[in-house]
Amino acid sequence: MSESVSRKTPNPLENPEQVEREGLEITERDIVFDCPHCHGELVVDLEGAGLSLTCVHCGQTVTVPEYHGPSLHFLEAATSKLTEALRNARKGSPRKFDFSNRSAAELVTRRADLERQSQEIQAQSAEIRGQVNHALIQLHRYQLKLDMLNESQAELETELKAIAERLSPEAPQVRGERPT
Ligand SMILES: [Zn+2]
Repeated sequence: MSESVSRKTPNPLENPEQVEREGLEITERDIVFDCPHCHGELVVDLEGAGLSLTCVHCGQTVTVPEYHGPSLHFLEAATSKLTEALRNARKGSPRKFDFSNRSAAELVTRRADLERQSQEIQAQSAEIRGQVNHALIQLHRYQLKLDMLNESQAELETELKAIAERLSPEAPQVRGERPT
């Protein structure tokens, strides 16, 4: 099995942004929310945040909520598309290349093109690594906040339990009436 440089092959390393956007009705820029009147799903570009619009389902006036990043709806669809693209990319490799019938000039041009693509991929990788670090720190912060809330809740419950015991009819009489 051989493959020449001239053969038109789909780029196995698709741009993740492209993969995410392709074929999705909802994009990363959309605010997805439920109409407070009829609970119908509404999709508005993030530029529409804060505006009053007429619900397409029930005709009542709704206020578009603020944009808080890509919707879960978008993330779920984009994640399954990326997973599929990655599976296909892995299935295709490793490819074999046979350049025996290509001229030196063609190969030099192809090499320059590949080097440019490689630099783009490296720049994108660096950006994504930065985003991953940011998200991991954010995740750690959320987990600590959740732990703090659980601590507070446990303390409240202990105090509530102590009060309930003190107020129960079977509890020993209030302070001062017992012999010391
Ligand atoms: Zn509605």
